[in-house]
Amino acid sequence: MNFDLIVRGGTLPDGTVTDIGIRGDRIAALDDLSQADAAETVDASGDLVSPPFVDPHFHMDATLSYGLPRLNESGTLLEGIALWGELREIATVDEMVDRALRYCDWAVSLGLLTIRTHVDTTPDHLRGVEAMLEVKRRVSPYLDVQLVAFPQDGLFRAPNGEANLVRALDMGCDVVGGIPHFERTMEDGRASVVRLCEIAAERGLPVDLHCDETDDPMSRHIETLAAETIRRGLQGRVVGSHLTSMHSMDNYYVSKLLPLMAEAQVAAIPNPIINITLQGRHDTYPKRRGLTRVREMRAEGIAVGWGQDCVRDPWYSLGTGDMLDVAFMGLHVAQMTAPGEMVACFEMVTDTNAAIVGAQDYGLRVGAMASLVVLDAGDPVEAVRLRPARLAVVSKGRIVSRQPRGDATLDLPGRPDRVRCRHTPGHLTK
Ligand SMILES: [Zn+2]
Repeated sequence: MNFDLIVRGGTLPDGTVTDIGIRGDRIAALDDLSQADAAETVDASGDLVSPPFVDPHFHMDATLSYGLPRLNESGTLLEGIALWGELREIATVDEMVDRALRYCDWAVSLGLLTIRTHVDTTPDHLRGVEAMLEVKRRVSPYLDVQLVAFPQDGLFRAPNGEANLVRALDMGCDVVGGIPHFERTMEDGRASVVRLCEIAAERGLPVDLHCDETDDPMSRHIETLAAETIRRGLQGRVVGSHLTSMHSMDNYYVSKLLPLMAEAQVAAIPNPIINITLQGRHDTYPKRRGLTRVREMRAEGIAVGWGQDCVRDPWYSLGTGDMLDVAFMGLHVAQMTAPGEMVACFEMVTDTNAAIVGAQDYGLRVGAMASLVVLDAGDPVEAVRLRPARLAVVSKGRIVSRQPRGDATLDLPGRPDRVRCRHTPGHLTK
């Protein structure tokens, strides 16, 4: 037996058609393996084989809690935060673990195999941190989870904000989080960014802040974040999540801000489904969309990934865990409709996100971790268009999920008896 598993005949995102040979948890060959055999084989001929999806921004301590203990009537970010403040006081560790594990099942079935999740460190009991550390441990054989210590109610605004954040880092959280626009004043927000970068530098940790998630064009904490990144030598390990205020900023100011972010190598993670839902709530018409300036940042050489943020929680009632839903929404709201931009939307939920969160051994290459997803699509743009069945998901060398194709049967006179929505030249008759 040459290999443990061979994925035969798939089309990689760059159009290469190849077999993939897997030994143990590693990719051992990308080649014509028609003469080789394996204990197990996946036929991917005509289908897209991609590295797994990566979600760089999620809230797993709150997921699948929609309606608990009550509904978000206004639909705003601020009512969501207040509602979560009630829920986190009554949710048990077991309940949070159960909900998160259920979400992780969804994620795996959709080919989402790396998740960076923010964990609320506000309450003194830190039950959310305890629960998410347990989830991380339990899913680690098949799903990589990074935990961001996230002072949801503010580093300085909450009574023990900094002490509890530090406790969460001591317990094992991987990344320093924050929420400068939610501190009491602009000055407190600025000071929180400085302090959080200091903590990260002392501990050698990455930084990922909820930054300027507001329609207020004067919310400019991203500027401080970029400047502190340079001052402390944190280039390449700092992320600004959301950055929605940039949507409303003056163009001249943005022309100065973007080169600063590029110099600092600060990455950006917009969360298009949530941003389009929560922003602009105070507007009449015209109503702002709230998504940050994705095309402009990309043109400046800033790494931009798409994040999911919420699924069935106090802030968002829908969601599935499918990063292709996220890419689909991002493509529309950012108007990334040119062919290369549509491809980029797929890359943003795979390679770009992996690079932003520092995923280890990622990608379809010899020596990399043998994790991949086989999609019922011909190429990345078709994957975004259809958000199709994940025919097989391989994690760390093992097939962990399978799904049948989603074809419909049709009963119409003179028409085919089967409907497929794939529309990639060369794959139409598959
Ligand atoms: Zn968030």
